[in-house]
Amino acid sequence: MKLTNTVRLGVRVSFWGTRGSLPEALTSLGVQRKLRAALECAQQLERLGIEDVDTLLDRLKNATDFSVAHTYGGHTSCVELDPGSGPFFVCDLGSGARPLGGSLIERASAGRPRIVNVFMSHVHWDHIMGFPFFAPAYDPAWTIRIHGGHDVLESAFRLQQSAPCFPVDFDRLAARIEFVHVEPGQPHEVADLVVDTRLQRHSGDSYGYRVSDGRCVVVYTTDSEHRPENVEEAAQFVEFFSQADLVVFDAMYSLLDAISVKEDWGHSSNIVAVELCQRAAVRHLRLFHHEPAFDDEQIEQVHRETIRFEELTRGERAPLKIGSASDGLEIDV
Ligand SMILES: [Zn+2]
Ligand SMILES: [Zn+2]
Repeated sequence: MKLTNTVRLGVRVSFWGTRGSLPEALTSLGVQRKLRAALECAQQLERLGIEDVDTLLDRLKNATDFSVAHTYGGHTSCVELDPGSGPFFVCDLGSGARPLGGSLIERASAGRPRIVNVFMSHVHWDHIMGFPFFAPAYDPAWTIRIHGGHDVLESAFRLQQSAPCFPVDFDRLAARIEFVHVEPGQPHEVADLVVDTRLQRHSGDSYGYRVSDGRCVVVYTTDSEHRPENVEEAAQFVEFFSQADLVVFDAMYSLLDAISVKEDWGHSSNIVAVELCQRAAVRHLRLFHHEPAFDDEQIEQVHRETIRFEELTRGERAPLKIGSASDGLEIDV
């Protein structure tokens, strides 16, 4: 598919929520640890002759570990794929949907259509919990189309807004809200994007999405457990990821956890992520659905180990770019 008249080439991927299972806030203790690390780093930088605070901050942001001057954030799964014009496109409505809603309203006021196409991996609570706080749902000018492969898609959204769990019943939402069933193996076109759906191993099933605008391919695959011994299934995922520009991958566990104590818990590891992406000749991998018990340093450690593993196993292949997703991160694909 070739597109015309798009404002920006490709798709901008914005991460509004990257945490798995449960929102997680940075605590005072966490802030103090960062301050200590930043001050220690500043002492070293000072010897290099820093003129002012802004320069020092710039140096800290760029010269130190990510976890010193940044945070991965604490909102649950919500990722926007923006083709730059036309309707908005979102994967999952975790708690990151709250800040996303404000941003969509602001951008729509500049002339974009008030339509958002949502593709749901599944309806576990961490992936729908942002919807009751998604401001466009309360505005009659908006149309929200929620796509997914589960028969319980609509009932799950209604249930979480039923008394006594939430004060505003689903039927009182003002937006036009539609539910659209999607099937694996049947490409689905929304605006200028084509979406392929894949069934994934997870409690109650989940779905991964391969999204293309005709120039670039982004794969969103979360809450998906991979069994290393299942060769046929791995081959199917390699095909699903094939030559993608970006793969957003559930890497919540270590490989040891994923194949031992947490087998059947429905998530995967950074190691499996690298192996599948290498075989599929993926360009860029973003680790996602971070373990809520991990602090920024631990997530960064997983990131470092993943980069090292890719280097050790690369062989003759082209390098796979690897990063960890963080709330607020934007990637132009
Ligand atoms: Zn989840
Ligand atoms: Zn889940």
